[in-house]
Order: sequence, then C-alpha cells, then structure tokens
Amino acid sequence: MAPTTDLRVLIGRERIAARVQELGAEIARDFAGQEILLVGILKGAAVFLADLARAIPLHASFDFMAVTSYGRKSQSSGVVRLLKDLNEDIAGKNVVLVEDILDTGLTLSYIRDLLLDRQPARLRIAVLLDKTSRRQVPLRADYTGFEIPDEFVVGYGLDYAEKYRNLGDVCVLALPPGK
Ligand code: 5GP
Repeated sequence: MAPTTDLRVLIGRERIAARVQELGAEIARDFAGQEILLVGILKGAAVFLADLARAIPLHASFDFMAVTSYGRKSQSSGVVRLLKDLNEDIAGKNVVLVEDILDTGLTLSYIRDLLLDRQPARLRIAVLLDKTSRRQVPLRADYTGFEIPDEFVVGYGLDYAEKYRNLGDVCVLALPPGK
C-alpha cells in the first residue's frame, strides 16, 4: 500500500496484540470449562476475531453476520438490514458477539436484541474500540479493548471505502472536508 500522510497511528500493533491477549484471558476465565461461539460482524470484526480467537484457550467455533445500517451518513437511524444471517442456531449456546467498534451503539444493540430473541445460554459482547462519547443508546460491551476519542479510525479490520482494513495499527484518517 502506498504510504500516505493522511494516517496517524492511534494504537500501535504491539499494544493491540497485548490487549487482545488480555481480553482472550478474561473471556477464557468467564467461560472456563465451556464451549463458546464467536459471532463476528463482517467485515470489520474479521481481523479482531481472528486474533481474539487464538487468545482464548477454549473450544471456540466461529460464525459471521453481515449487516448494513440505514441513515449512517446524516444520522444513524438504528434500522439495520441483515445482509447475511448466521449459519448456526445459537439456542442454548454461549455466544460472544465480536465487533470492531462501538459508536452510537445503534447497530450493536439491534444485533444484540436479534440474537437474544434466539435464546442463547449467555450472550457477551466484545469490542476492540469504544467511542463512548458518541453513544445514543445505553450499551456497554463486556470486553472492551480501548476507549478512543471521537475520531475516524481505520486499520486492523476497519475501512474507509473498503481500504485500509489490512493495516496492522489502528490509525486516525484525516477525511476530506464534507465526508
Ligand atoms: P454504531 O451503530 O455503533 O454507530 O455503528 C458502529 C459501526 O459504525 C461500526 O461497526 C463501524 O462499521 C462504523 N464506524 C463507527 N465509527 C467508525 C470509525 O471511526 N471508523 C470506521 N472505519 N468505521 C466506524
């Protein structure tokens, strides 16, 4: 990828790796002796899920959902359309929902309610990043990597127009005016 001056490292790869190990250990402690199902929200959570899964010394299977939210640009409406549902039935299972970033909370609270309707044994939420100052609905993740300020970030799975997902660090992207 061509170097760009529009990117500033916010959280470097070593800090991410260390924190992901801690989160994995916490999850393993909370679900000791049990199996878990990691549910990733595509595409942003794919990188985080891949690393987190390897930091959890339990039997862990994966499944993925893809969603799109309406009205994000001007105002997040909280109405989410399911583009891809889970392959597995989650009734009676220990589910850890894995997301890249918690912003207004609208998307994740919609997904959480959808999954709770399917009656998992337990449902926990893990997010790499949390912009707490942006929250519109009261939602807290059970496992949070880092709280970050209200800046647009890319890397480690997060994109801008499908770019930058493969950056190893979480970086602040200076967006052109009006974006
Ligand atoms: P929420 O419903 O919590 O407002 O939306 C969360 C979603 O918005 C995330 O899954 C992500 O797709 C997107 N999002 C929020 N903040 C950022 C950001 O700083 N960078 C990127 N790339 N996506 C973001």
